Amino acid sequence: MSQVIYLDYQASTPTDPRVLQQMLPWFSVDFANPHAIDHQPGQRANQAVEQARQQVAALIGAEPREIIFTSGATESNNLAILGGMRFLHPQKNHLITVATEHKCVLESAKQLEKEGIEVTFLPVQRDGLLDLALLEKSFRPTTGMVSVMMVNNEIGVIQPVEQIGQLCHQHGILYHCDAAQAAGKITINVQRIQAALLSISGHKLYGPKGIGALYVRHRPRVRLQPLFYGGGQERGFRSGTLPTPLCVGLGAACAIAVQDMAKDVAFVQKLQKKLWEGLHNLFPDIRLNGHDQHRYPGNLNICFPSRVGQKLLQQLPGLAISSGSACSSSDIEPSYVLRAIGLDKDLAQTALRISFGRFSTEMDVDKTIAYFQQTLK
Ligand SMILES: *Cc1c(COP(=O)(O)O)cnc(C)c1O
Repeated sequence: MSQVIYLDYQASTPTDPRVLQQMLPWFSVDFANPHAIDHQPGQRANQAVEQARQQVAALIGAEPREIIFTSGATESNNLAILGGMRFLHPQKNHLITVATEHKCVLESAKQLEKEGIEVTFLPVQRDGLLDLALLEKSFRPTTGMVSVMMVNNEIGVIQPVEQIGQLCHQHGILYHCDAAQAAGKITINVQRIQAALLSISGHKLYGPKGIGALYVRHRPRVRLQPLFYGGGQERGFRSGTLPTPLCVGLGAACAIAVQDMAKDVAFVQKLQKKLWEGLHNLFPDIRLNGHDQHRYPGNLNICFPSRVGQKLLQQLPGLAISSGSACSSSDIEPSYVLRAIGLDKDLAQTALRISFGRFSTEMDVDKTIAYFQQTLK
């Protein structure tokens, strides 16, 4: 049996070998605590972490002191939303977010509801994009924060983040952006989108798992209540010893992204076109989910009418693709994102999310099309 073709880059990307190389010494030779700056090994680790902080900052147009290392985008989103709203409460007791956000954003919002904060979960349009007029209408004098992601992890659509940031700025509302799927893939500038808070994940941009970052704007200063307490690292926002190898890995991944982004984008665009055309030739009734222009080209989320995505996948064991559905007990739950863009339960269950990136190949695409042809024709 040949190797499985990996087309699930939005679930996780492989760590770039160049990243891994830079991480390795910090596990073994240079293992010192990066906060133990009384001695040279500690200072070396500290410098490595600070260089990584600069590299992360450079990717998004931030200052190094505005970058807080976390364990991943889940923690970054929790810290931004829970920490930000808990700090603002009770002066501001209203949060706005969107139905198609990642679970970690939606669940953070639901936790805040239990703490007495009001949350508006806005719907999206059929193309997956937020209606800006609806957003503005939902603003209240008590609105403290708006949380809207940049690139959607299921359908790949890119939200109008500059306009969202602009509206929030005009109304004195903090804008938090979950950029886990965007960082390293499309250009991000925190000034231009007027973000107060922005989340990044290492393993979505060819870095290691278990590391992420939260951008916390310095001017005007954004304040957060920490999620947990300890040695006061990361300017008190996030206590705990920083994992030097993972920080170095995230920094390296960001530096490579700055360098390779244009090339990566052109490449995934080419693969996307080839894959879509190949599948569309085989199955003329397939439909693309999400806006066909405002989208990240490394994603194709496709409905195969009259087929069930998960069953389809069972027939395609040679492909690592996501069905876009979550299994809860014995039931197949159709994706809440697809339901939110207006797909009925049955159609949503025919969807597959195919995602690819830097280490995908044209051969992967050719083989994928051939698999579909063999299995389904
Ligand atoms: C993967 C992902 C997360 C969670 O990131 P982790 O680093 O795995 O915790 C959050 N938001 C989006 C949009 C994601 O794609």
